[in-house]
Amino acid sequence: MADWQGWMRQANYVAGEWIGADSGQTIDVTNPATGEVIGTVPACGEAETMRAIDAAAAAFPELAGMGLMARVGLLWKLHDALMDNQAALAELLTVEMGKPLTEAMGEIAIGAQYVRWFAEEARRAKGEIVPAGVNGRRILVTKHPVGVVGMITPWNFPSSMLARKVAPALAVGCTVVAKPATATPYSGLAWAALAEEVGYPAGAVNVLTGSARAIAGAMMARDEVRKVTFTGSTEVGKELIRQSADTVKKVSMELGGNAPFIVFDDADLDAAAEGAIVSKYRNSGQTCVCANRMYVQAGVYDAFVEKLVEKTRALKVGDGREAGVAQGPLIDKDAVAKVEELLDDAKAKGAQVALGGSRHQLGGSFFQPTVVTGATQDMAFATEEIFGPLAPVFRFETEEEAIEMANATRFGLASYAYTSDLGRAFRLNEKLQYGMIGINSGLITTVEAPFGGVKESGLGKEGGSQGLEDYLDTKYVCIDGI
Ligand code: NAP
Repeated sequence: MADWQGWMRQANYVAGEWIGADSGQTIDVTNPATGEVIGTVPACGEAETMRAIDAAAAAFPELAGMGLMARVGLLWKLHDALMDNQAALAELLTVEMGKPLTEAMGEIAIGAQYVRWFAEEARRAKGEIVPAGVNGRRILVTKHPVGVVGMITPWNFPSSMLARKVAPALAVGCTVVAKPATATPYSGLAWAALAEEVGYPAGAVNVLTGSARAIAGAMMARDEVRKVTFTGSTEVGKELIRQSADTVKKVSMELGGNAPFIVFDDADLDAAAEGAIVSKYRNSGQTCVCANRMYVQAGVYDAFVEKLVEKTRALKVGDGREAGVAQGPLIDKDAVAKVEELLDDAKAKGAQVALGGSRHQLGGSFFQPTVVTGATQDMAFATEEIFGPLAPVFRFETEEEAIEMANATRFGLASYAYTSDLGRAFRLNEKLQYGMIGINSGLITTVEAPFGGVKESGLGKEGGSQGLEDYLDTKYVCIDGI
């Protein structure tokens, strides 16, 4: 048995010390699969965050001034610490969040890959020498760490969403003040424990739990915080963008999605159905890149639905720690109510339930994997993020119609299409208004590529070389009289 409790820190990490809230107050943390309280975390607020920002500002010159290979070496150790403790960290993640253990193992592994990727990218954070317009001048373009970075993350990927922020920040010498989601704080606090274990200087990494408004408010107010990176809902993201104006911070925003999943007549239908399962039901439908709307061309509509229903029926629902479970509970009962609301709206407008459609007999926040046919653009899930195990299948006739329906949303994060026509794949790449496009793939997140959205899905990229760039300021020096 992995020692997941050994990584469950019921305290906050500020300036290299494990602390409680000044008020002494705590917040309960619950296992969504059982409803049991597994522990508490401090209910910190503005004062503790101010001290964390002071510590991060004080640690910045040390981390930024450290030799590059010393900083890279710390990241290598961080990678190894994650992988050496993968099973324990994954179980902790499953206990507080609910996702199946195999998915949690994958999340810790991809987090470690992000750490390794950014250790490699930091060595290539190159500047430029640009030809000057007049003789006697040289123009140098150089890169510099932005400074203290505030980070706010959601509950659906409580470990890897921090990996994509913490790793590039530390790689270039930025220091960190992070606030994980209240529902899943332990995977975030584990990053502080890991940073402590591998020897980061005090203040380089600070992690706080408690009031989102108070903690974020302090981050947004302080000049020393030069960048805020947020992953979460579009509504909160917009609020943070507004708040960033007063101190003109850099912002990265990884916000909501409403991914179309388009299946053309010429697609490999088995591959499309398999991709749909991965894209739709991973994390019980609670990912920002989950297929939200399945658009299927008329000629293969019935055949695709049959395959999708068959594969969906085979998904085992249960406690994520049980062997063979493919779908855990939803994060809480509000999430279940939201799925029911979207389903009721669709049924009232003529959709039919082909599979599932109700709460699961396990009770709590478990919901049956559900497939709905006859979906239309006037139904609420055509424009809203479902964030649950509900797959609505829409029908379309032509490529133009599919693209128009797919783009008819304020979101622009991930999109997917299955086709064997290469020309069509290029047309989709040009016409789909999305930051990410999976052609014949339902699983596209990878450390080498820039993850991020367009439209109201966000600003900035995580992963790829672009993911490092977001933590760097560009300066230019003009040397004259040469
Ligand atoms: P959320 O409600 O926006 O919460 C995200 C984080 O923001 C949490 O830490 C939360 O703290 C904090 N927060 C809440 N209200 C705040 C406020 N007024 N000011 C500052 N911070 C505040 O989102 P969620 O429900 O946790 O996550 C689901 C959303 O995240 C979905 O829309 C999903 O698509 C999106 N997401 C996007 C990506 C991406 O890469 N684009 C990845 C994953 C998820 P508390 O927990 O304390 O409330």
